[in-house]
Amino acid sequence: MTDPSALTAEAVAAIGKAQTSAELERLEVEYLGRKSGRVSKLLEGIDKLSPEERAALGKAVNESKRAIEEALSGRRSQLEENRLADLAETEAIDVTFPGPPLDRGHVHVLTQVRRQIETVLESLGYQVELGPEVETEWYNFEALNITAGHPAREMWDSFYFSPELLLRAHTSPVQIHAMQRIKEPPIYIITPGRCYRRDAPEATRLPYFSQVEGLAVDKGLTFGDLKGTLLYMIQSLYGRERKVRVRPSFFPFTEPSFEFDVSCGICGGMGCKSCRHKGWLEVGGCGMVHPQVLRNGGIDPAQWNGYAWGFGIERMAMLKHDVDDIRLFYESDLRFLEQF
Ligand SMILES: [Zn+2]
Repeated sequence: MTDPSALTAEAVAAIGKAQTSAELERLEVEYLGRKSGRVSKLLEGIDKLSPEERAALGKAVNESKRAIEEALSGRRSQLEENRLADLAETEAIDVTFPGPPLDRGHVHVLTQVRRQIETVLESLGYQVELGPEVETEWYNFEALNITAGHPAREMWDSFYFSPELLLRAHTSPVQIHAMQRIKEPPIYIITPGRCYRRDAPEATRLPYFSQVEGLAVDKGLTFGDLKGTLLYMIQSLYGRERKVRVRPSFFPFTEPSFEFDVSCGICGGMGCKSCRHKGWLEVGGCGMVHPQVLRNGGIDPAQWNGYAWGFGIERMAMLKHDVDDIRLFYESDLRFLEQF
């Protein structure tokens, strides 16, 4: 029969050498396990002993259990203390170690193109002029010579809050605001901003989009000044080899009115799939400011004249980056946006 004190000494020694809490658990099961633990096994055959011997053995076994339990808890707290003491070494943070690189965002492609347009025109002396996106009927239509009942109004199918108030359908109202504010020409402004029209989203149009318009009011301006400005702008944005052409058109706020095109950058004007074999790509509209529009802005058309142009920033970005669906600009798909 095993001697309880010898078994206790053996167990306490093993516990003292244990290096991990897993090892301690294993030792606890080995010695103190309820059925097959070595201490419980000391009691095997106790029924064959005399009552005095039984009492003595029971007492010795209980003492052995208590001693082993004490040794276990003592070693456990010792190991925990050691772990905490080592923590400063093993898990210390090296503040001089370089961190992982951060993902950086960048300016949206439409903002990039808008800023490029602004930079080019600011170099010609134009100033950026902003206006409200909610407009009155007068600024959005009447002041621009688009009178009520005029069939041209259908070109600007708009979102109305009330019969008088609407989301602006173009940035042209800013021209009127600018003339009223500046009062004395010369006026050279550009008007970047959001516009809204009741169009269903398609590859070429959206119910919301951005425009830039330019307005010049001065003495003796000619159509040559307008075309030269457009040519300078297009060549600055797309390259010196690009050409500009104008085609007669109609807008209520300019007279005469034109649409302007840029020569296709892929085929150089020879015709290809990208320009639908025309050699030219449509950009926007332009013309000499209608005298009535100048009058509505508080400018005397007998003394001053002007020219204006406008185009969509999305359209400009599509031409610049060869994008064939305008909706991509607003879908926030990083696979698309990260290309620019
Ligand atoms: Zn082409």
